[in-house]
Amino acid sequence: MPRTLLAVHAHPDDESSKGAGTMARYADEGVRTVIVTCTGGEAGEILNPAMDRPGVLERMPELRRQELAKALEVLGVSAHHWLGYRDSGMADSDANGHPDAFANAALDEATGRLVAIIRKERPQVVLTYDERGGYPHPDHIRTHEVSVAAFDAAADPDRYPEAGPPFQPLKLYYHATFTRRRLEAIHVGALARGIETPFAKWLEEWDAEGEPDPVVTTQVDVARWLGRRRDALIAHATQIDPNSFWFAIPDEVVAEIYPWEDYTLARTLVPTGDHETDLFAGLDPEGSGEPPGGAPVDPEGQPLA
Ligand SMILES: [Zn+2]
Repeated sequence: MPRTLLAVHAHPDDESSKGAGTMARYADEGVRTVIVTCTGGEAGEILNPAMDRPGVLERMPELRRQELAKALEVLGVSAHHWLGYRDSGMADSDANGHPDAFANAALDEATGRLVAIIRKERPQVVLTYDERGGYPHPDHIRTHEVSVAAFDAAADPDRYPEAGPPFQPLKLYYHATFTRRRLEAIHVGALARGIETPFAKWLEEWDAEGEPDPVVTTQVDVARWLGRRRDALIAHATQIDPNSFWFAIPDEVVAEIYPWEDYTLARTLVPTGDHETDLFAGLDPEGSGEPPGGAPVDPEGQPLA
């Protein structure tokens, strides 16, 4: 069975701002990469001034699909699935009243849709957001809830029997992308190199809000994939201003200072070390999905027949 990595995201563009370097790297290394997008991003605003032109807002659902398709191509993603909900907008937004809004979705029904995808794709590793959503948007919180529920339900033959044969993913991770630790490291590192950074004010505000950083258990080195990450993000032309602070520090400088994408290992069914550099750590080399340790292994690492 091929190694498969499945990431669940709330909106088109989230796959490019959270873990994009990781997806590109694993794709290049021969892992099947799968992205699930829970909503179509219909309620999104135009966040790039260059795209704020007549007619663009009216075509938003179509444009966001096109942008996503381009980003998936940049990242070399093997398969993509829509969960089929509508974007909810921020808390208190009118969009939340829509009957198909993801924030209103029945948890059981949404979980069943994701269970069907997991049983079809059979990923050993699942990526999603933490309980805070990584960002306080109702769709992100719901993405967390549905992913955690589906991770367990996918293996349970009594749940969603119509959704395919049971399958148990082995590891569940949360993105820990936007940490104060990372932002500060890049800020300090850039200043030390004589590069101006726009992050001083952001860091101050971060301290005032007092959100603690998530625990980082796993760091994937994506230094060589930062260009792909940037291109994927820029593919979301209605959402990302290429002149914004996201791109203030050149990739080659980021690669020197903080080449990692960070994760929190939330669940694992295989033994693994304290600090991982590979999302598949602890799985057997063939990625069969079976936990290692069944057959005795000799010191050279060859299974003993
Ligand atoms: Zn989002």
